[in-house]
Amino acid sequence: MSTATATCRTFRLILILLSILSASSQENNANTLLLNEILSYVDESVSECDDYYRYACGKWTEVHENDDFVDPLGLIDQKVNGNLVKLMAELQQKQQRSNVEAKMLSFYQTCRQAANSTRASKGYLELVPPNEQILWPQFKRRWEDWDSSKFQWMETLARLRRYGLANVLFDLDLQTENNSKYLVVIEKPKLKTESTQLPTDLHVLSQKLLVLGVNDRETYSLARQVTMLEQGVRKLVLNSQSSETVGEITVHELEQQTGGDWRKYFEILLNRTVSADFVLQVQNVAYLKQLNRTLARWNAEVLASYIMLRFVSYLEEATMDSREPIDCVQELRRHMLLATNLIYEQRFIGPDKLRKLQRDVSELLEVLRQQFYKMLKFNHLGLKSNQLKLLRDKMKMMKLSFGSMPMHTNHSSIVSSFYEDLQLLEDRDYAKNLLRLLEFDTRRLFEQLDKPHDFFLPDPNMSMISTPFYIRDQNTIVMPFGVLEEPFFQPDAHDIFKTTLLGHLSHELMHGFDSSGLDYDRDGNYNAQIHKITSLRLHEAGISCLNQYETVGMDEREADIAGIRLAYDAYFGPGSRFNQSQPSFTSLSLKQLFFLNSMQYFCNKEPLNDDEEHDSDDIRVYQMLINLPAFAEAHGCRPDDDNMHPSAKCRLW
Ligand SMILES: [Zn+2]
Repeated sequence: MSTATATCRTFRLILILLSILSASSQENNANTLLLNEILSYVDESVSECDDYYRYACGKWTEVHENDDFVDPLGLIDQKVNGNLVKLMAELQQKQQRSNVEAKMLSFYQTCRQAANSTRASKGYLELVPPNEQILWPQFKRRWEDWDSSKFQWMETLARLRRYGLANVLFDLDLQTENNSKYLVVIEKPKLKTESTQLPTDLHVLSQKLLVLGVNDRETYSLARQVTMLEQGVRKLVLNSQSSETVGEITVHELEQQTGGDWRKYFEILLNRTVSADFVLQVQNVAYLKQLNRTLARWNAEVLASYIMLRFVSYLEEATMDSREPIDCVQELRRHMLLATNLIYEQRFIGPDKLRKLQRDVSELLEVLRQQFYKMLKFNHLGLKSNQLKLLRDKMKMMKLSFGSMPMHTNHSSIVSSFYEDLQLLEDRDYAKNLLRLLEFDTRRLFEQLDKPHDFFLPDPNMSMISTPFYIRDQNTIVMPFGVLEEPFFQPDAHDIFKTTLLGHLSHELMHGFDSSGLDYDRDGNYNAQIHKITSLRLHEAGISCLNQYETVGMDEREADIAGIRLAYDAYFGPGSRFNQSQPSFTSLSLKQLFFLNSMQYFCNKEPLNDDEEHDSDDIRVYQMLINLPAFAEAHGCRPDDDNMHPSAKCRLW
């Protein structure tokens, strides 16, 4: 060996050592930064065993006093939206734009520049009348009567369904059958959410009618009548049997059984001829029959006004009603999510990082999957072997999607062919362009009856936030890009900082096995065998235990409680490959860090607010931790003496 070569080797060795040292000091820096961030929210004057939410999140509001967001998800969305604003400015400067980029920019600029007059609710109603022969009642000419013989409520609902209005008088959507076939499903309307009814205050409603052009003298009486109509329908919904068997039926049979002109409805909605043997699924024929009879007794003008008011409320929810850049990019996320995701991916993530993210997150899911199998082996519910197999299969087939698109495919070609026939107007008329987008979304949705897309259409209600979610009939967890970025996901820091994402994945995974998720099998089809698990004695006992403390959404509570246990066991259970060594950068134990890291996701400036599905954040944290024995162990809480450690705990799985 020559001296020169030996020197060269020594030098190389030193370089390698230096780079390892610098990498590990970078890692330590990252860890210290993350830890300091976590500690900055902790209120040490509160005991962990007394009120963990206040301990972990006590200073969240103070630290983020001057920020616009209320919770960590808001922080992520602010970052994503900020990036998109930057991206739109870059697009404006760009000489050569792809078709998709040009369409996005066009809608963004319409949102930024449209005159206020093109955003008014009244304007939408002028663009979308009840049908081609008649205007909405308030637009009739003074000397004329409104010709009620020309109004047909089902025809109008079909026209409005083309713009996405659903869940009015009945609900109609698409569902998959074995992932490759879609079917129209009609059921009675869901009453749960606030958006499913008109304002209950008659003065507020009258004011709304006035703005829509109804004569001042008539608003109060009309408001009263549409409210009565709505109450009548709600009563009908509540009184009709929901246990009626789910059945496939032809459109001809449906017409015979309910009396409605359903064929015409579908021809308008699908914009094509529909044969009498067009098959759909109806979950409550008796309700539809009764509805038809009830509505026939109502004055057509009141019925038209009711439908019109629901359409206007729907449109109000579909837009931000603002021309600020930050609001306009949110509109883009809502109405052109696939395009937005694509250009976000291209500009801020790139193919290498995307591949790494996909690999990292898939690994985390795999760890949870193995832990789930172990949980099935433990078999707390006493499941039979065929039930265990169904659950194993479902877990095995659960998929991940990034940015609503399938993994390992060419996103660029998927997205450009998706938007190929979208025609936006360049006239900066906001209402006209929004209607075009809404109609485009519905067309894309229903064309799956003929040919399913090989990706799932994003739900506009989930598009503006970066939270992961689980799609039951696709058995898929969708990861929005925002959630995969710092500070949420730190692939290069100590493993313990991956637990926020691990907890998220685990929560979504358990949605596949919550009481509603247990209706579906591995392919997203209804399965009676799997459904039976919910009526097992121990499952029912688990649910009634969780029900001791009132909840707005049992599915969410189930996913919370089973999810945190699964994530904890995956990290600390036997055979774990996660780093278990005590970190040098803190004296907190790994287990304590696990809880801080995963629970601070729930910090919120308004912790007492619940939504329609989730309890308020403080209750969610409380429920997750009191039911997990490992929490009390990690903090030395005393059984029953400490608030966070009741000795009776609920267990579901
Ligand atoms: Zn959930």
